[in-house]
Amino acid sequence: MTQKPKLALYWASSCGGCEIAVLGLHEKILDVAAAFDIVFWPCVMDFKYADVEAMEDGEIDVCFFNGAIRNDENAHLAHLLRRKSKVLVAFGACAFGGSMPGLANFYDRDTMFNWIYMDSPTTINPDKVLPQKRYDTPEGELVLPGFWNTVKTLAQVVPVDYFLPGCPPEAQSIEAAVTAIVAGELPPPGSVIGSDVTVCDECKRTKTEKKIKRFYRPQEIIPDPDICLLEQGLFCAGIGTRSGCGAKCPAVGMGCRGCYGPNEGVLDHGAKILTGIASAIDAETAEEVEIILDTLPDPAGYFYRFHLPDSLLRRKARKNGKKQMDGGPQ
Ligand code: SF4
Repeated sequence: MTQKPKLALYWASSCGGCEIAVLGLHEKILDVAAAFDIVFWPCVMDFKYADVEAMEDGEIDVCFFNGAIRNDENAHLAHLLRRKSKVLVAFGACAFGGSMPGLANFYDRDTMFNWIYMDSPTTINPDKVLPQKRYDTPEGELVLPGFWNTVKTLAQVVPVDYFLPGCPPEAQSIEAAVTAIVAGELPPPGSVIGSDVTVCDECKRTKTEKKIKRFYRPQEIIPDPDICLLEQGLFCAGIGTRSGCGAKCPAVGMGCRGCYGPNEGVLDHGAKILTGIASAIDAETAEEVEIILDTLPDPAGYFYRFHLPDSLLRRKARKNGKKQMDGGPQ
């Protein structure tokens, strides 16, 4: 009997939505189970890291790795699964671009720890105890993975063969990737598996001339169901974002948040969205631009929501002359 290809799925720094997205294949999950021998999927079955360590290098045929790299454990598993896998897929927006965990790059570890464990209004910590990497208990030593200053993408830590975008990837994107793998019809290594049109290209809303005088939060207006949301002053990143989702968010009145990332050849997703939005603002003077942009809360969070760690900025500059792009154990 021919051996089935071996599949691994792993969850690093992410919300877990990518794991649920695989289950969102519904009955097609049975085709995945029929096509592959699932050798590692700790979210769903009881596998141990030792099981992977015991495998031969390259023994896993395909690994879907979701989540950003924000601590020593994530990095250890990235290196381990890279070594054990023939094909490593950065699965979902966090592994691809850093995504929500990557927004922490607007801060650093000390700032976050001080706020979370000491200064936030809901914290009571009079002894100012912070998480320790090692802690001795009567039962033995407890060890926490080292927390990095800088969140990185999977490809910034190990070589990646393919990228499957989305927060999470839509079921049809996962299905297309699995079908391509099974048929041996994958694009050239380094490719993003998916469409190269923008969300705007797929969006059914009527587009005319965009002249934004102010931005609105989604709860502030009931948008016209047929007209482009951006033209109505609702932030929409569809103008600079790869599709593959079927423009589902704009279809229901919610502006695209950019989770499928940039199109081919775009170096900086945030800069691309910013350029598109800037061209839609109806202002004559720099002051007017300021006034209009003041109605958009958290612009950096909007423009770089899914791709700050792999942007040209990567992170907020750190004080005391420390390097901007630092990360790793410290
Ligand atoms: Fe649709 Fe958004 Fe593009 Fe407007 S900006 S056409 S709402 S995707």
